Amino acid sequence: MPELPELSTEEIRRYARHLSVPGVGVEGQRKLKASSVLMIGTGGLGSPAALYLAAAGVGRIGLIDPDTVDRSNLQRQILHGESWVGKSKLESAAARIREVNPHVVLDLHPVRFTPENALDLVSRYDVVLDGCDNFPTRFLSNDACFFLKKPCVYGSIFRFDGQVTVFAPHLDGPCYRCMLPGLPAPGSAPSCEEAGVLGVLPGVIGSLQAMETIKLMLGIGEPPLGKLLCYDALATSFRTLRLRRDPACRLCGDAPSIRSVSNTETTASASCELPDQDIAEISAADLATRIDAGEDLFIVDVRQPEEEAEGTIPGARLIPLATLSQRLAEIPADREVLVHCRSGGRSSRAVKFLREAGVPRAVNVAGGINAWNALDR
Ligand SMILES: [Zn+2]
Repeated sequence: MPELPELSTEEIRRYARHLSVPGVGVEGQRKLKASSVLMIGTGGLGSPAALYLAAAGVGRIGLIDPDTVDRSNLQRQILHGESWVGKSKLESAAARIREVNPHVVLDLHPVRFTPENALDLVSRYDVVLDGCDNFPTRFLSNDACFFLKKPCVYGSIFRFDGQVTVFAPHLDGPCYRCMLPGLPAPGSAPSCEEAGVLGVLPGVIGSLQAMETIKLMLGIGEPPLGKLLCYDALATSFRTLRLRRDPACRLCGDAPSIRSVSNTETTASASCELPDQDIAEISAADLATRIDAGEDLFIVDVRQPEEEAEGTIPGARLIPLATLSQRLAEIPADREVLVHCRSGGRSSRAVKFLREAGVPRAVNVAGGINAWNALDR
């Protein structure tokens, strides 16, 4: 371990509120000063994360972003302001971060993160904070981190739902491919403009990513290895889903076939993502048709018991999402399992979880009970 850098008098004053925190202190602050993070993207997730990491005194921050600031970014990308519309996101980010903390060393990489430059870029930093918005880049940051044994702090958002975890197979956790083995079907994801996001949501998720990054740098607490933290803003709830390392994972599994950061997933063209879109769905109307036809369906309601007052789907059995992992035995692995919640957010998480847990024919009821109630029945 190299000698930690000293703190100046100005820095000691600046970080006074850290120095009195158990687990941080002068030693921890010096660790932060010695640490570096590569941030992929300075958008919705990267904005709050970069601001907090800079304010916290992380010694060196690398920023990757080839884009310019668009006015439609300002609703959530709080690094950037009105006077920077049409100008470089990196220059905008640098100006703001230098204002927040001039002690931070900034590396500006005005490039796309590609299989050609990924290993070189990632190798220069201790931690990668993935703030991107598309699948190929996410696979790429995961794969580069895997080969270089660096932790990858993952965050994703969609409308009112967000997810956070840390992928670090070298610390015995799963990787991103253990959760999502390959790219979803092409054309099945709407663009971000179509998908939409409530602006404060990336603020919540990006801040959580900053927290996990700082914990890794300080070596305090438990990183969420094998745990996917899911935030449902509308239900005001945080839930944790277990992620398992997949022995069949093509990257970190027992007989890996991916040997390079240049592969099918990382070289695919980037389209904006919808985290849940790799999930099979059925519309409420189609479900009603099948129920009315007398089909014997296995339907699971993953809402909380008190939500049944909002309506129920005939034959659905209540297994609240938080209890799903303990009640897996109640769900047949060999037949179609239709899952619904209130609006489709929690049920899509449940479907993802079930598919990973060995229920391959789990299907999401799009729009949940809200869509069901809207049917003319
Ligand atoms: Zn894996």
